[in-house]
Amino acid sequence: MRHWSQARRREGASLGFVPTMGALHEGHLSLVRRSRGECGATVVSIYVNPLQFGPGEDLERYPRPLERDAALLDREEVDALFLPRREEMLPPGFTTKVVPGPLGDRYEGRSRPGHFAGVLTIVAKLFAIVGPDRAYFGRKDAQQLALVARMARDLDLPVEIVPCPTVREPDGLAFSSRNAYLSPGQRTSALCLHRALERARAAWAGGERRGAALREVLRQGIRAGPEVALDYAAVVDPDTFEEGEGTLATALALLAVRVGSTRLIDNSRLDSPAQ
Ligand code: AMP
Repeated sequence: MRHWSQARRREGASLGFVPTMGALHEGHLSLVRRSRGECGATVVSIYVNPLQFGPGEDLERYPRPLERDAALLDREEVDALFLPRREEMLPPGFTTKVVPGPLGDRYEGRSRPGHFAGVLTIVAKLFAIVGPDRAYFGRKDAQQLALVARMARDLDLPVEIVPCPTVREPDGLAFSSRNAYLSPGQRTSALCLHRALERARAAWAGGERRGAALREVLRQGIRAGPEVALDYAAVVDPDTFEEGEGTLATALALLAVRVGSTRLIDNSRLDSPAQ
């Protein structure tokens, strides 16, 4: 992979990189298209990163439709597909990890201990191997995006982190590889995430600026049922992820919800057009 990247550079191409765990959907492909439009060559990686899964999570059953993914990327005319093997990424004796800052312990980090250390460690390795000029990340995983951008700044990694809008199905459900786990009934229940975010956006548009009140609108939008359980609902500062009390000037709403055994996350800026 590194030799390939070096050869592209010698030809004068800028390198765009889209790291993924595969089971590709329109969200992933939007990142690929953005990179294709902005960079001379685009690399996509598919690696189901064991370090970012906790015990009892879905590492083993995570979908791996490799041939379908490769065909999709072929159609997008991606220049390289990087498929590192587990023993290459985590050889015996591997011990070093990237430690996220305090943001790594909140929200997703609290629900999934060790998750972001696992994400950042593998993203740092992928950056070191691929050597991209730009790397594309979805706002769908807002906290991950913030932590990756923080890591790149803190460690002086020579890569520009490019945030990309969340892509949704026509009914508002954010594309996610985990949507494949949902039964038709659960798929309908899962619409509560987008609905709750839209209600919070409407409350903001109507003048509501109190963090606690906006959080309550989110909570009310996720009515617990036999198949739906709220993990967290929060309204935070989009830059610091500090939970806002009092009157907010900007706001990012965060949701994590379990639908059946599937854990879904979504988020939305309340103070700007849908993204
Ligand atoms: P994953 O394969 O889930 O690790 O995601 C790989 C990249 O795709 C991450 O940067 C995600 O934030 C991004 N991504 C996932 N779903 C979406 C979506 N619905 N819209 C935009 N980007 C997404």
